[in-house]
Amino acid sequence: MNRASVVQEFTFDDMAKISRTKLGCAVPIELYRAIRLIGMYQGLPMRGKGTTVTIGRKIGESLPVHSLEELFTMFRGLKIGDPHIVLEEEHKLHVAVKDCFCEGLPEMEGHMVCDLEGAIMEGALTKLKNKRVLVKEIKCNVNGDDCCEYEIRF
Ligand SMILES: [Zn+2]
Repeated sequence: MNRASVVQEFTFDDMAKISRTKLGCAVPIELYRAIRLIGMYQGLPMRGKGTTVTIGRKIGESLPVHSLEELFTMFRGLKIGDPHIVLEEEHKLHVAVKDCFCEGLPEMEGHMVCDLEGAIMEGALTKLKNKRVLVKEIKCNVNGDDCCEYEIRF
């Protein structure tokens, strides 16, 4: 192999380079949930807060998206969920995510578990707008809300 072509860091494009033949390119949502909820939410100190923000922002920054619409399309393509704007103000957006990975889990009042997905949006939008964007999880199916929803502040 040519030395110059040796990869030093993975890019998001690398994530789609899949050459395994027997098991295909998808993993069951149980595995995603197990990593997110058993591993991170229950396994890390403070329900993973801090870690999820770091991981989510890093992933968000790596996404090859150039607009909010492209970010939403990416969310649907990656099956993170189906985002829709439900409130739009000058410096604030509310985005509801339907079909979130957490849909169908047992309810646990007081628990909002989709912070990583919000941090992915935060990372992508901060890079896109080239200024600090804050994303806060304000509703979650697991908490008993009618959807998962985020408040985005520009
Ligand atoms: Zn959710």
